[in-house]
Amino acid sequence: MSILMVGSVAMDSVETPFGKAEAVLGGSAIYSSVSASYFTEVQLVAVVGTDFPEEHLALLADRQIDLGGLERAPGQTFRWAGRYGFDLSEPETLETRLNVFEQFRPKVPEPSRDAEFVFLANIDPELQLTVLRQMRHPRLVACDTMNFWIERKREGLERVLEKVDVVIINEAEARQLSGEPNLVRAARRILGAGPDTLVIKRGEYGALMFSNDSIFSAPGYPLESIFDPTGAGDAFAGGFLGYLANTRDLTDEGLRRAVIFGSVMASFTVEDFSLNRLRQLTYPEIEARYKEFKRLAHFEDI
Ligand code: AMP
Repeated sequence: MSILMVGSVAMDSVETPFGKAEAVLGGSAIYSSVSASYFTEVQLVAVVGTDFPEEHLALLADRQIDLGGLERAPGQTFRWAGRYGFDLSEPETLETRLNVFEQFRPKVPEPSRDAEFVFLANIDPELQLTVLRQMRHPRLVACDTMNFWIERKREGLERVLEKVDVVIINEAEARQLSGEPNLVRAARRILGAGPDTLVIKRGEYGALMFSNDSIFSAPGYPLESIFDPTGAGDAFAGGFLGYLANTRDLTDEGLRRAVIFGSVMASFTVEDFSLNRLRQLTYPEIEARYKEFKRLAHFEDI
């Protein structure tokens, strides 16, 4: 089963306490597509500028990602610059240059309109809606967003929330979106706005999944060296949705396993800058870490 991804393709400049990377491959659609590609076929809908290096396209093609919906427009690729302090949970955004995204009108290639799984990765909510309108009968639609859009495009975002099944956001975004500091109450409000399932990513502390009748708590993987948290959230979403698209198991148990696969992919992503770690994984490594996650939170009752 395949998944359609729309989101940003970026040249990121990132600074963490452990190093720096200038104009490297990034973007919400890239991290989520490469992550999902370990589980299922991926179709990418996005835009790049004429400055986008061929080697990045080769990386995506290597992962068998379908680039039929990747437009090449005149102008510069989207650029984002951010800096993390010792608390790696939230970057300070230094610069967001939308560039080719300003004029972008996503066009889903005809055969991809039948995709059953859709991920509206972090991007302008209006573009998320444009993609959704072109899909014929998706079985599961998930979305992400960030403070940038919550502040600037709230109305569009509310329309997105009405239409999606799953929302995958981080803790700060859940608080900002709901206007509620307590996460359980924040979750209730967000579920009230449309989706059946909400996943709140909590960085090194793991993730919480809420539905109307259950809460699941996944641990964070205790990593000794974290180099760059950029893309962890998108890699999480890619693993989560890739696993669901692969198994088509949308039961509560299936969703719980998907949260762990998402956490596995996020934990690999932060071990290096850009996609350096994520791009060279093997499936046995993914499975081994999945089993470690199981041991991590397991305890025997008396
Ligand atoms: P995360 O998984 O939340 O760390 O997402 C990081 C990615 O989001 C980076 O690679 C950025 O290129 C991308 N990004 C940053 N700001 C925006 C924005 N306003 N819209 C879309 N993508 C963004």
